[in-house]
Formats: sequence, C-alpha cells, structure tokens
Amino acid sequence: METKYLTEKDGDQAAAILRAGGLVGIPTETVYGLGANGLDAQAVAHIFEAKGRPQDNPLILHIPEASWLERYCQNIPAAAWALAEAFWPGPMTMILPRKDLVPDAVTAGLDTVGMRCPAHPVCREIIRLSDVPVAAPSGNTSGRPSPTTARHMLEDMDGRIDAIVDGGPCSVGVESTIIDLTCTPPRLLRPGGITLEQLRSVLGEVAVDPAVTRLLGAGEKPKAPGMKYRHYAPKAPVTVVAGEPARSAAYIAAHAGERDGVICFDEYMSLFTGRAAARPVMDLGPAGDKEEQARHIFDALRSFDHTDVPAIWAQCPDSKGIGLAITNRLNKAAGFHIIEV
Ligand code: AMP
Ligand code: MG
Repeated sequence: METKYLTEKDGDQAAAILRAGGLVGIPTETVYGLGANGLDAQAVAHIFEAKGRPQDNPLILHIPEASWLERYCQNIPAAAWALAEAFWPGPMTMILPRKDLVPDAVTAGLDTVGMRCPAHPVCREIIRLSDVPVAAPSGNTSGRPSPTTARHMLEDMDGRIDAIVDGGPCSVGVESTIIDLTCTPPRLLRPGGITLEQLRSVLGEVAVDPAVTRLLGAGEKPKAPGMKYRHYAPKAPVTVVAGEPARSAAYIAAHAGERDGVICFDEYMSLFTGRAAARPVMDLGPAGDKEEQARHIFDALRSFDHTDVPAIWAQCPDSKGIGLAITNRLNKAAGFHIIEV
C-alpha cells in the first residue's frame, strides 16, 4: 500500500482513516504511535502485523479526556483520578481493570487495560475527530528504537500503514510512564516522561517493577509483558558505561575500538571526534540536561543502523528524575550489559 503523508492540518483525513479501520502514524509528545480504532479488533490485529509485534504484548488506549476512563475501565480507584488530575494530558499511562467492550486484541487477553490521555495538540485533535479510543503502540518495527520524528517512523512503516501525520519532533522523546493501579502499592512498570518522584508526590508509596532496572531471570515474568522483549536495540551490540561523566568518557575513550560508535554527552564529543577518528559519534545532549538527553536517546540509537559500526558505547545519566527512563532505555538497548566506573 502507499502510505499517505499528512500534515497537522489533515486531522480530519487521519480520523476518517481510523474510523474506516485503517492504520495511521500519529505524533504524540512521547514518541510517534501506530494508531488504530481501539474498539475494532481487526484494525488492532493489523497493528501487530505491521510492527511484527508479539501477540502477547498489549497496547495502550489513547483517550481525549479523563472522563472517558469510565467507558473502558471498572473499579477505578481514587488514585487514578488524582493522577489524571495531576498529569493528564501528558506522558503517563495507567493500568486499570477493563470493561468487556475492550477487545482482547488490545489487552492481549489480560483483564486490565493501559489508558493514556496524550498532550500533543495534533494527536488530541485526531482522537477527538475520530471519536473512538485510539489503540497505539510506538510506531517502530518491533524491537527497534521508538520513532521520535515522522521520518524515523517512515523508515520502519512506509508502505505498511495507510497514512502518517507529521506533527514535528516529539517534545519528550521517551515513551509514557506506565503505572499499575491494580496492585498495592501501585507499581511503576515502565519509567517515562512523568518521573517516579512525581508519581510518589501524588500516590505516596510506589513500588518499582524489577524489570525496570535489571534483566529478569528465567521463569520471572514482568507485569508489563512488553518489558520481557529485547527492545530499543540497534543492530550493533551496545555497552553502557555508567558513572561520573568525566570517568565514563575516559573509560570509553580507552576501550572503544577505532570504528566503534559512541553516544556521549556534549562536553565529551571532542574526545571521540578528534584526530582522524572514522567512527560515528552521537550527541546525547549536555550532561546536566536530562530533558534534552531524553529527546536524543532514540535518534542516537537509531542512527547507528545507517552505519556498519561493530559495537556501540554509551554514556548515561544518573537515574534521578527522567534519568530513570533514559538509563532504562539505554540498559535495555544494551541487554543490561553495563560497566560501572
Ligand atoms: P508501546 O506502546 O510500544 O510503548 O508498548 C506498550 C507497553 O504497555 C508495553 O510494554 C506493554 O507491555 C504495556 N502494557 C499495555 N497494556 C498493559 C497492561 N494491561 N498491563 C501491563 N502492561 C501493559
Ligand atoms: Mg514500543
């Protein structure tokens, strides 16, 4: 099929395609999503086909306002309304008990469903015009880094989806925070644009799922099915070097092969690009600006797939604030191959 390229003025066309059961690439503030009518099981099945996504990995339903929670969820705890009040519209997904009208195709047969109200104005307009909840995972081929521009999404999805709406680069750059409200205490399943500290300021105690910070052992099952898959991974193997920035930069400079790719903070670019270095170096952003790092992380990982680097080395921030989401994505891209210096 030919993928139609739409702009932010074409929200009505995007909505019409969604209502007719088609697939649309949609800009959100986190990453680009691959959207379909979340009440149409067949349309949702096409998402899994286009991405090559494992069938047991559920999707998030995107809604235009918190009041829609009651249409698709039951036994909604007070905590959900408090979180919605604090962080919606925005980069936070809540796991809640679902109602029967949500197709199994969306939830992968679970009795819970992930719900998010996104903040991107173009995304909100498309959902509002389509008047259905939009089921949307990230718009990458399964296993690849998530797309944060329309061009990145087309790299993976051109010819596989009906249309893409270009809404500019994503302002957050990492996927939504997923918080499970069906257990006590609530549990962080995936760190993202809303930080653990922000969640705790509303909820008090919040547990962190082990899959966020380490590789699970054989037989261990993460609560977010998506967390068990190798993820965000470029083709070359990644090594994360964690620790104080000057030390991790020095370590990489001493150990990286001549042709190895490097992801580093602004301040250390010259350490790797100098002399006659042939290697590609990607800038993660200033060491002190994690928001900027979040916007760069997927672009950095993705860019190496246009090269033939044998390996990739990456600096990473500490895990405070949105640093937890950045380190999680880097560590997962590295299969938790992490060196502490
Ligand atoms: P993506 O949209 O590609 O970021 O993927 C959505 C993420 O949400 C995956 O990691 C899923 O496993 C997770 N997810 C969606 N629905 C649920 C649910 N009902 N329970 C737990 N995790 C979920
Ligand atoms: Mg994804």
